[in-house]
Amino acid sequence: MDRKRKSDDKGGDGRIPYGSYEVVVRSAEAIIRAIGDDPGRESMKKTPERFASAMFEILSGYSENPWEIVNGAIFEQEYSGVVMVNNLKFFSMCEHHLLPFFGVCSLAYIPNGKIIGLSKIPRLVKHFSSRFQVQERLTEQIGKFVESVLSPKGVAVYINSYHLCVAMRGARKEDVIMETMYFSGEFRGDVELKRIFLDKAKTTVNHFFDII
Ligand SMILES: [Zn+2]
Repeated sequence: MDRKRKSDDKGGDGRIPYGSYEVVVRSAEAIIRAIGDDPGRESMKKTPERFASAMFEILSGYSENPWEIVNGAIFEQEYSGVVMVNNLKFFSMCEHHLLPFFGVCSLAYIPNGKIIGLSKIPRLVKHFSSRFQVQERLTEQIGKFVESVLSPKGVAVYINSYHLCVAMRGARKEDVIMETMYFSGEFRGDVELKRIFLDKAKTTVNHFFDII
């Protein structure tokens, strides 16, 4: 009864399709049972619901429109330099194993008469990472979306991340880091500009991993 009410609430908020929450709860129960544990034992009774809530929160990108995120935060501004935003930490889910990967992103662009409000960049990274992803596509989606919003002279994106599907299973390589980069426009042909961008980006990555 409690679960039914919760399911209706979740489905009724306009973000999670009606009934989806209940499907995820039932599926989590089935997985726990299939693995060999008992979803009915005392401390696991609420686990399927906790799992469903966590999944819909972690994967909230499916219920968001990135154009709404940037709405009202694009400004006309002449600026001939580079805008760079570092230390954009994110958490995502590998679409091959449904396990987390997480890390840090740096983004730079060269404006062409328009700039974007600073607070929108972390929200865009969060939006595109809050889906089932591969790091390659995540990197490109962030870069291409900024291109489509600002029509800048160039965009650069760097992502450095740690994949639990490589650390916990399969190869079991705990120290493997994956780096992906996307360059467009003036970044693509300018080796010096790329080098400055990557040097800066990698400096903040080291800082991030020192913290954890
Ligand atoms: Zn994986």
